[in-house]
Amino acid sequence: MTPSNTAAGTPTPNSFAALPLTPATLANLQQLGYQEMTPIQAASLPVALAGKDLIAQAQTGSGKTAAFALALLAKLNPRWFAVQAMVLCPTRELADQVAVEIRRLARAQDNIKVITLCGGIALRGQRASLENGAHIVVGTPGRIMDHLERGYLTLEGLNTLVLDEADRMLDMGFFDDIATVARQCPPARQTLLFSATYPEGIEKLARQFMREPQRVEVAPPKTERLIEQRFYEVTRSNRLQTVGALLRHFRPVSTLAFCNTKQQCKDLVTLLQAEGFYALALYGELEQRERDQVLAQFANRSCSVLVATDVASRGLDITQLEAVINVDITPDPEVHVHRIGRTGRAGASGLALSLASMNEMGAVGKIEQYQGNPSVWFQLDELTPTGTGPLQPPMVTLQILGGRKEKIRPGDVLGALTSTEGGPAYTREQIGKIQVTEFCTFVAVARDVAAQACAKLNAGKVKGKSVKVRLLSLADQ
Ligand code: AMP
Repeated sequence: MTPSNTAAGTPTPNSFAALPLTPATLANLQQLGYQEMTPIQAASLPVALAGKDLIAQAQTGSGKTAAFALALLAKLNPRWFAVQAMVLCPTRELADQVAVEIRRLARAQDNIKVITLCGGIALRGQRASLENGAHIVVGTPGRIMDHLERGYLTLEGLNTLVLDEADRMLDMGFFDDIATVARQCPPARQTLLFSATYPEGIEKLARQFMREPQRVEVAPPKTERLIEQRFYEVTRSNRLQTVGALLRHFRPVSTLAFCNTKQQCKDLVTLLQAEGFYALALYGELEQRERDQVLAQFANRSCSVLVATDVASRGLDITQLEAVINVDITPDPEVHVHRIGRTGRAGASGLALSLASMNEMGAVGKIEQYQGNPSVWFQLDELTPTGTGPLQPPMVTLQILGGRKEKIRPGDVLGALTSTEGGPAYTREQIGKIQVTEFCTFVAVARDVAAQACAKLNAGKVKGKSVKVRLLSLADQ
């Protein structure tokens, strides 16, 4: 990779230094390791920083968050405590990720307050945060509407409205909510819309709520060479069993299995669990608490297989994913590329396994055309079990019944586990991801020390207080 600034300091065309950004912002980007603009940033930022409305085609992982965040931050007045920018997102997970990224990018400016407003969390706390003053609100359309209706949130000072993953919000039936929210924003605001695809509803949104938007697009991401794609022909009767055969043969640590329907997800998870796999399902109707629990276990590598629909998997950001299985072929080739693009990230290689029956061959043909590559087929009888014993996730999740409300921070949990008090001191290698949510904390520990670590935490103290801790198992789901 070539650095964006040569030793002499001459900026290259994709350098952030070519943009009208403050020196403090440029220094912060440098510190964050953002050497060069990503293609979507290079295409969007000049338009967005010029104050124009924008429709940008961008996928998760393209750097799209920084593309709109830098634009909205550039206009922000930190000394004025009014909501000046709002980002609408389809899911709470995405809203959380967006808020984290905005906060990172805002470090260059004085005390900028970013709050998230999503469903599944008490309105009261969110109202208090709003009363304390916020510059930027990130949230899901339904919950934002709630706050507007109750008068907790006012948008008179808003100058930037961002619709992130607009296609997904439309898929999830948020058109009317977005429209209601947009109507309450000052007409002179700037609107930035980001979407991976252009379904009809996007045009409709643009016509109703945007002013001469400029469209920018970067070439659709070609399938990474690091992703190995294999197709298997299946029948209706052996499709679900084939998933187990693939897992026993390839033994991936983490697998995301996509089904086209919620029912198929449920059937597959039941079958995989019966076959002894640690598999969990993610679909629309889960309660937020259940969703958090499932996502935490998958992200920290204590669940081998996550079975999901496309809609439910939105906003899911997992960096280490060894395999994607298309249990059903999607009729939309863009969705196929999006699905398999979740593996083979960050320089690691990935495996994309697709199961297709005769009546899905038309869809496979569309995928071949879209990718410009023929599909490569393999035989089911080559799938023989490998390795020893059942496929087990390397980690186990401990759930501590206490979270942000109790002011627990990851460091407190790490401290309790690595201390020599009340049991063996665990090494950093034996402790995985620590995720603090509103009411509880998830911590991954190596499978062979999990029970012991759970006992140690239960007997000892976290942040000076006794805590209740339990091991999550399939029986809890
Ligand atoms: P996003 O598509 O916004 O979810 O961003 C994907 C990841 O890329 C995030 O972890 C960002 O922090 C990171 N990122 C965004 N822009 C850049 C950049 N210009 N250089 C390096 N990393 C970036």
